[in-house]
Amino acid sequence: MPASTMEELVALAKRRGFIFQSSEIYGGLQGMYDYGPLGVELKNNLKAAWWRAMVYERDDVEGLDAAILTLPTTLRYSGHEATFTDPLVDCRNCKARWRADHLTDAKCPGCGSTDLTEPRDFNLMFKTSVGPVDDGTSFAYLRPETAQAIFTNFKNVLDSTSRRPPFGIAQIGKAFRNEITPRNFIFRVREFEQMELEFFVPPGDDEGWHEHWVEARLDWWEAQGVPRSSLELYHVPADELAHYSKATVDVMYRFPHGVEELEGIANRTDFDLGSHTKNQDELNISAKVTNNTHSNARLAVQDLQNKTWQVPYVIEPSAGVDRGVLAVLNEAYRVEQLDNGGERTVLAFKPHLAPIKVAVLPLKKNHDGIVARAKEIKQNLQKLGLGRILYENTGNIGKGYRRHDEVGTPLCVTVDFQTIEDDDTVTVRDRDTMAQERVSVEALADYVRARLAD
Ligand code: ATP
Repeated sequence: MPASTMEELVALAKRRGFIFQSSEIYGGLQGMYDYGPLGVELKNNLKAAWWRAMVYERDDVEGLDAAILTLPTTLRYSGHEATFTDPLVDCRNCKARWRADHLTDAKCPGCGSTDLTEPRDFNLMFKTSVGPVDDGTSFAYLRPETAQAIFTNFKNVLDSTSRRPPFGIAQIGKAFRNEITPRNFIFRVREFEQMELEFFVPPGDDEGWHEHWVEARLDWWEAQGVPRSSLELYHVPADELAHYSKATVDVMYRFPHGVEELEGIANRTDFDLGSHTKNQDELNISAKVTNNTHSNARLAVQDLQNKTWQVPYVIEPSAGVDRGVLAVLNEAYRVEQLDNGGERTVLAFKPHLAPIKVAVLPLKKNHDGIVARAKEIKQNLQKLGLGRILYENTGNIGKGYRRHDEVGTPLCVTVDFQTIEDDDTVTVRDRDTMAQERVSVEALADYVRARLAD
């Protein structure tokens, strides 16, 4: 069973070095978290799995890594300056601020008072000054989504790769939103990471591709250990759609605090490419909202036969890395009763997500022969390129196994006297079954490779 409470996950994440409150020694910065030694591995593994599925395993997607600081003009024409807001209310009694759409009744969740202000719009974008003079005129936004730089680079990618729709551009990176009430651990934070694909298609093919991407994303989450039984699809009603969307399907996950959005899959139509394009009147843009007088580009594709220009539609699967990490942790977490009456905590990650793939443990802490052989085995396994292999010399194998169960290490390899004095075999211990098996060092690389394939 997945973890029953957020407290258990937060405690494990801190105890074992996955996730820490940011600036904790000074009291913490609200809505910010730091990923520790194991958290950075887990997060990188999740991002790598997304990149593999989106870019390497398909032949119709290119990658991008764009700047975080964004020109205000970009976010004006994208509609974010005017509409990227949440409704905010203040409690006149305790002075706390809340999102009006998060209140279940018209009461302050802090003190219970009903003396609240009328909701007003609060823009979620962070601003920072650029250059040496802070006179308020030269500023940039920290991007609120990674998507906009994909749109503004559309022509660069098209021209440098000769792509034509249907094709996509994928990007992973930080995004920033000045959330009114960050909460629920890494679920709602002010600095987070997104994994976004903008998939450009001919107008008219958009609805079919939208369905394709919903299915593809559900399959991908399942491959990360988040089964369909823990997910729900929410077809966002028209009055809740973002300003750019014709239709959005949210992938909702059973987080410990409730069912909430893990990923949004939107049909953004030709809204963004159209909005960033000059001379829009020459083009047949369905979602034109503003006449762009600043852009010098036509973000469109020419039909080679009849020479007309067409602005592609775009389907956007947009997933949060941090919410993904939380879902994966929650699914992997289990507390098991043991036959001897004790219990153990296990993170049963899919092997490709496990922060440490194999721990190599010498049976005797101070035995030169065993230690040297264990170090050598670690280095040889490391060369396989499977991820982090940890050599750990504490001399207490039983405790080592428990600790590695708790951080999700799929295999522990113990080097003992038999290894160096007898038949050059090691003990391989399995995280999930706790079964132990003797494997010859010669066959270990193939054995580990096979066991880590998921
Ligand atoms: P919510 O309704 O929960 O505020 P959203 O609909 O504004 O989310 P999108 O704009 O669709 O979110 O962003 C795409 C993805 O980015 C979300 O599905 C989520 O995984 C992630 N995300 C958005 N805001 C945050 C946040 N404040 N903290 C962590 N992840 C976030």
